[in-house]
Amino acid sequence: MQVFRTVSGFRAACENARTAGLGFVPTMGALHDGHLALVTEARRHAPTVAASIFVNPTQFGVNEDLARYPRDLEGDLEKLQKAGADLLFAPAVEEMYPEGEQTRVSVSRVAAPLCGSFRPGHFEGVATVVTKLFAITGACTAVFGRKDYQQLAVIKRLTIDLRLPINVVGFPTVRDLDGLAKSSRNFYLSPSERAQALAIPAALAEAQDTFSNGDRDAAAIANRARKRIEALTDRIDYVEVVDADSLEPVVGNKIDHRALLAIACHVGKTRLIDNVVLGEDARVVLGEKA
Ligand code: AMP
Repeated sequence: MQVFRTVSGFRAACENARTAGLGFVPTMGALHDGHLALVTEARRHAPTVAASIFVNPTQFGVNEDLARYPRDLEGDLEKLQKAGADLLFAPAVEEMYPEGEQTRVSVSRVAAPLCGSFRPGHFEGVATVVTKLFAITGACTAVFGRKDYQQLAVIKRLTIDLRLPINVVGFPTVRDLDGLAKSSRNFYLSPSERAQALAIPAALAEAQDTFSNGDRDAAAIANRARKRIEALTDRIDYVEVVDADSLEPVVGNKIDHRALLAIACHVGKTRLIDNVVLGEDARVVLGEKA
């Protein structure tokens, strides 16, 4: 695997790979099996796979975890190598945000609800860095996790709106055996907090069962999930059932054929997000501990 620190070096490598096809997996590092599954997925689309590791400062709010975000470049290199990535871009902040920089990319409606209302500026930071990365890689198939469902929606929107030659692929959420979605932020959880966090996949699975049994009442499904989460976690940002495309409220509160149940809550100091698309995603499998 070739490692690049500069935009110019990475751009040239992408250019060489592009004729045969380039797959791209952007990450913030502290890699787990969820990230590595994206690398494997990218390989299905293209003979050369590039990953990036960049903890993007502009997507963190002032009171968020930028300074303590887990970093393990050595370990990440080994994992990416094993997963079969060919190129890795790991730039310094100044390489992505050159001296005097003043440009931001902002997506409006789809970035507004859910995490958008709890993390002001977050999606602007995401949209900006992803647009920069796409401008460097050029045409490619970029793979993102559905774990960050709204982020995926924002990136799909900006790719269409800016007419970028990027094929954006969403990959299903990879979970631990107990059902908890894999996340770099799970590293923060103590064993007892981790047990609390299992309320999240349990709530998602319950909602999927309710939906399978024919319930189409968006508010009722959300309320039930909220109760389950409330009992075990420390603070809820949101538990909502929304239209899976627009992320806006379900029209008439009646789910047509599919809808997104999205959850963001805090366990101790750690903010966790998760979701399922009711009527679309495979049922969340809960392990024995859940
Ligand atoms: P991050 O490093 O958290 O910015 O994530 C980088 C990419 O990995 C994003 O596209 C995430 O949606 C994706 N990702 C993170 N966790 C998971 C997971 N458990 N399953 C699938 N994709 C994931």
